[in-house]
Amino acid sequence: MATYTPMMQQYLTIKADYEDAFLFFRLGDFYEMFFEDAIRASQELEITLTSRDGGSSDRIPMCGVPHHSAPNYIEQLIAKGYKVAICEQTEDPKQAKGVVRREVVQLITPGTVMDGKGVSEKENNFLVSLTELEDGFGFAVTDLTTGENSVTMASRFDEALNEMYSLGAKEAVIESTLPEQYIKLMKDRCNVAVSVETNDSPAQIPGDLFARIHDLNLQRSFARLYHYIIRTQKRSLDHLQAVRRYELKNFLKMDLYSKRNLELTETIRSSGRKGSLLWLLDETKTAMGGRLLKQWIDRPLIDRQKIEERHEMVQVLLERFFEREDIREGLKEVYDLERLAGRVAFGNVNARDMIQLKKSLQQVPMLAALVQSLDHSYSNKLAERIDPCDELKNLLEQALVEQPPVSVKEGNMMKEGFSAQLDQYRDASKNGKTWIAELEASERERTGIRSLKVGFNRVFGYYIEITRANLQHLPEGLYERKQTLTNAERFITPDLKEKEALILEAEENMAELEYQLFNELREQVRTFIPRLQTLAKCMSELDVLQCFATVSDKRRYIKPSFSDDRLEVTGGRHPVVEKVLQSQEYVPNDCRMGDASGRSMLLITGPNMSGKSTYMRQVALTAILAQIGCFVPAEKAVLPIFDQIFTRIGAADDLISGQSTFMVEMLEARNAIVHATKNSLILFDEIGRGTSTYDGMALAQAMIEYIHDNIGAKTLFSTHYHELTVLDQPLKLLANVHVRAVERNGKVVFLHKISEGAADRSYGIHVAELAELPPDLIKRAQQILEKLENQPKTQVETREPEKQSAVQEEEAQLSFFTSDKPAKKQKKEETADRVLRDALLNLNI
Ligand code: ADP
Repeated sequence: MATYTPMMQQYLTIKADYEDAFLFFRLGDFYEMFFEDAIRASQELEITLTSRDGGSSDRIPMCGVPHHSAPNYIEQLIAKGYKVAICEQTEDPKQAKGVVRREVVQLITPGTVMDGKGVSEKENNFLVSLTELEDGFGFAVTDLTTGENSVTMASRFDEALNEMYSLGAKEAVIESTLPEQYIKLMKDRCNVAVSVETNDSPAQIPGDLFARIHDLNLQRSFARLYHYIIRTQKRSLDHLQAVRRYELKNFLKMDLYSKRNLELTETIRSSGRKGSLLWLLDETKTAMGGRLLKQWIDRPLIDRQKIEERHEMVQVLLERFFEREDIREGLKEVYDLERLAGRVAFGNVNARDMIQLKKSLQQVPMLAALVQSLDHSYSNKLAERIDPCDELKNLLEQALVEQPPVSVKEGNMMKEGFSAQLDQYRDASKNGKTWIAELEASERERTGIRSLKVGFNRVFGYYIEITRANLQHLPEGLYERKQTLTNAERFITPDLKEKEALILEAEENMAELEYQLFNELREQVRTFIPRLQTLAKCMSELDVLQCFATVSDKRRYIKPSFSDDRLEVTGGRHPVVEKVLQSQEYVPNDCRMGDASGRSMLLITGPNMSGKSTYMRQVALTAILAQIGCFVPAEKAVLPIFDQIFTRIGAADDLISGQSTFMVEMLEARNAIVHATKNSLILFDEIGRGTSTYDGMALAQAMIEYIHDNIGAKTLFSTHYHELTVLDQPLKLLANVHVRAVERNGKVVFLHKISEGAADRSYGIHVAELAELPPDLIKRAQQILEKLENQPKTQVETREPEKQSAVQEEEAQLSFFTSDKPAKKQKKEETADRVLRDALLNLNI
């Protein structure tokens, strides 16, 4: 270290505190990076890597970005999940003795970034913290852009992980003692940046944040987050709202696999919004509403009364078309109040933001009146909560011009009449300019030179310009010579200079005063932040409810009703597939389970691509839509309120690439079997496909029996093991349904219609026939099938204990069938399975 120059020593000292971040080190007009940072940044940002002498024998790798374009580069790094520490010169270089003092003024991280590419308009930017407690995990959530704060308790790590996943958290703050395997799972599954904060003392937290939180453990969880924010952002954060406590058990539970499988907020294939339930539903008009919609989809309700309240409001909005259209029009003009409030608190707000705020507030009285006119219990309550913040609106109307500039330092923001002092300066400037404008005419007359001009430039100020050809007509000594050009001569007069001084002074004063007035205005707006946040909540709620009504109207959804145990959907559709099919008809299907129907499990058979998994998802999505408060795609729907939904769908889409898909399949199945209750919904698609026939079939049957006997959850189970269809005999709650393919004009056509009973045993051969495989081959297949059918092995084990299982017998004979893989490879996979199992099982996932 000693051999480095003093500046490099300063760099290294500061860098030591920010090892996991890129250090943007201010050097004049550039931010420079050195050593490893420089090498990595040059790759990530595609900028040139150079080097400089730093006192040591080797040259130091270096790369830099101009300070004015730094935000763009910072955004790029943040979007890639990195952190960036901004180190500024904190004293005037001219005053400095030795090396200029420098300090890190802000640490920007994926969870604390306020704007730019990393922050999407319709998504929250959540930063979470995890604190291991004696009986579980404290979990705190904040969105710095909106100021929302909440805390909850998770009894197990996987619950916290699910929550982190469904919030789409960008960054997780943890204590330094959290086990490595947890950190790895957080990074792998939730793709979060992980940061450590050791301070979790609630002592220094502003009291009003904890107005509603008295539990010390919850306070500690939030305190960790708070200290991290203050340490990294180093500024006031008045917009942070009182911490709210929420209970995970008050919402429909879904693990992260199920959420992904059902494509609630993103699709499996592209991880994008398009094609997800969120994409289908998003008829919101405001960014705030868009964010709330995502939150509602992530957390369907289980409280019947709350759900029904939403449904009633949707009903009212659906029926009152004109009011709804007016509400939509009004909301269009409502800007992102939450994030505007955040920027006011953060201090990076400009006059244009304030104009957006004003325009938004101008819409509120009309929107409040519309909501009131709906005259329904929910809308009346909502109308009461809407506070139009009139004083703020009036203030902004009086203060700001319609189209202020982006910069807050150049003036031209304030309206005339807002400040007497400002008006005086403006008059002085205007009078001076009028005097100068008149000067040209009067001097032309006095000198008789018609081309005489009065002009202005930044270096010489105001001048009188006379062309060289006309100089001879100018009386000697009339003006003072100032500047000579090739074709002209420029002059000044004492009067002109005097006016110029007045104008320039007035303009400088104006800009300074406007900046000061703007800051005062911002301080006044700051006092409205809590009221603006409440207003934002009302507006986003209204927006999501109108969104539900709009989608329900457009897509002919109906209001579901609830029963304790009965699920009865008539003419149900898969909302997203229906939309995507467009001109093609979606074939509606019924689903009946629970209560008097005497069945709670459906075993679904039918050929590939016939619509089995679409049907299963359709049932789950219908339940979710109902429980978030939206109407559902059906002709009629009576539903139970589910407490949890579990899915095991598809084998190609496993989250853990490179891992044994069968192990993942079993772990997901286990998750359902361990946690499901009678009030849950389970979707198992082709369970057991990932292993040999007998293994898979045996497992599938055992699972069906287990759920049937021990859980009683409503279950949809699709399978290609035709043999399992006989289970409807011993299992009273199980019923068979099937989907068929038919031939139309010589082509295989899937009707996508779910019918009662088991599929035709030879549907596979039938499809092959329709696909025009050679007739001899089809005939041979039929012979083989017949033969197989007459053998005992095709029967499944029924539950008479004295009889040995047919499956077991077969297994003994056909053990060579269980694996077609070379022994070594299989062994390796088994080891990998064990490692994976240990990791996941221990965590109770
Ligand atoms: P399976 O699970 O039986 O292999 P899928 O559920 O994946 O079949 O359905 C295959 C395709 O059939 C889907 O991509 C969808 O486009 C179409 N489909 C499924 N159900 C319906 C339906 N009820 N109406 C119209 N098309 C459907």
